[in-house]
Amino acid sequence: MSPKRAPGSTRSAGSAGSAGSAGSAGSAGSAGKRAAAGPRVGQTVGRFEVEKAWLVDPVLGREGPGEIVVADGILESVVWLKGAEAAGLDDKGVVVAPGFFDLHAHFREPGFEDAETIASGSAAAAHGGYTSVALMPNTSPALDEPGVIERIRAAVRAGGSPVEILAFGAVSAGRAGEQLSAMGELADAGVLGFSDDGAPVRTPKLLRSALLYAGMFGLPVVDHAEDLELSEGAEAHEGYVASILGLAGWPVAGEVNAVSRDLAVLEDVLRDEPRARLHLTHVSTSAALDLVRRAKAAGLPVTCDVTPHHLALADEWIAGARRWSWEALGADGTSRDPWADGVLVATPYDTALRVNPPLRTPADAAACLAALLDGTADAVATDHAPHTVVDKEVEFGRASNGISGMETALGVLLAMVDADRLPLARAIAALTAGPAGIVARWPGVAATPVARPRGLTEGAPADLVVFDRADRWRVTPETLRSKGKNSPLLGRELSGRVLLTIAGGRLAYEDPEAASTEG
Ligand SMILES: [Zn+2]
Repeated sequence: MSPKRAPGSTRSAGSAGSAGSAGSAGSAGSAGKRAAAGPRVGQTVGRFEVEKAWLVDPVLGREGPGEIVVADGILESVVWLKGAEAAGLDDKGVVVAPGFFDLHAHFREPGFEDAETIASGSAAAAHGGYTSVALMPNTSPALDEPGVIERIRAAVRAGGSPVEILAFGAVSAGRAGEQLSAMGELADAGVLGFSDDGAPVRTPKLLRSALLYAGMFGLPVVDHAEDLELSEGAEAHEGYVASILGLAGWPVAGEVNAVSRDLAVLEDVLRDEPRARLHLTHVSTSAALDLVRRAKAAGLPVTCDVTPHHLALADEWIAGARRWSWEALGADGTSRDPWADGVLVATPYDTALRVNPPLRTPADAAACLAALLDGTADAVATDHAPHTVVDKEVEFGRASNGISGMETALGVLLAMVDADRLPLARAIAALTAGPAGIVARWPGVAATPVARPRGLTEGAPADLVVFDRADRWRVTPETLRSKGKNSPLLGRELSGRVLLTIAGGRLAYEDPEAASTEG
């Protein structure tokens, strides 16, 4: 590690580099010295310490200066520092948090291995600080029968990454929106729930059956809320920016209609099946979030997530703006005009920005943040959607939807923290205890390890991420481990370089310049 990362040194006790040094503030400690026989990805972490860092434990609701020790893959000790020992330590440097849990990612295997594989996706996850990832079933073949989940599990074993890979089964056979998939067999095979993501559950009737059957297994239906009639042919959020750019609009009503349909069907099904659960993923509009807020207040068992890109970017990026969404808000909370502001600095129609649901207005982004702050949104999920270059190097409206987002999620949220829009502890909770809390509300998996609380728990297998808020890194095709280089943040610097990710006691990622663990 470089001295600028101190305080918050990491070291491997017993290695030559750290001998005699307490790794205290300002000391180089084990700086830059790779432990002679450090563990490789997948191996149990023998011994690892972080001294004088900032710990965040969203389960205890506690953050502050502290130290941790990992021994033989177990989080052996968590020490909260007080008084003189804590002097000078703040949350602006090295942070230790529980490993992140992504409820929505696309690893493209089987079927689209040019875009991503289980191995490359797991590497991207670990580089982003994630130790658990739930995959969507829009593979080819779709994950609509247990054979496909077996293929995914075989790829996980072959890849050797310790990142925990979970999966949603398809709602409908072939995700065709007609017949239900083999839901019972999929439940037996251990899917986390059901979704036709990539597309909404096609009809209210199909959704009704799906919620009912999934509910019998205590599992949720996760819906991508989109009214396909209203969004047909759409290229961008329907509004001012799309009008000027000449792009076909995806209206707010398309999401509102779908969310209200889903909530009405859920309410109905609950009378027959009280274990029915609905999760709405990547909700993107203020109006739809209001519906979720009201449904939660009325006691409906619904949860939702928002994405980093809907929080921090806005539709004006398609025109060439590159300011964060909160910088595009007027004093009265309305969206500013990027043309009037003279902030169009990039080439318009960057297809890395084509995503579904589309980037909305700055006011919608602010509503996503407000939902995260008031608990309407339970978690941040990435909707990591890697694509090949050929699927993106076409006209804007013909480009595949999706952003390769797993490795930039932390940096994007930290930009919101740096701007005093989001407390650090809330950002971390949205990536850890938030998704765990959603899963804990699904009766079929609530008592399984997947729903573990995800704090910094002494005596449990180490599952954590260490990152440095003071260390900025540039997003480039080379720094992204994902095969998908389709990020609108390419070229941009983000804070919060991930130094180390440990999943289930095993090394998942280590920054090459900061290697300091021991096998
Ligand atoms: Zn989706």
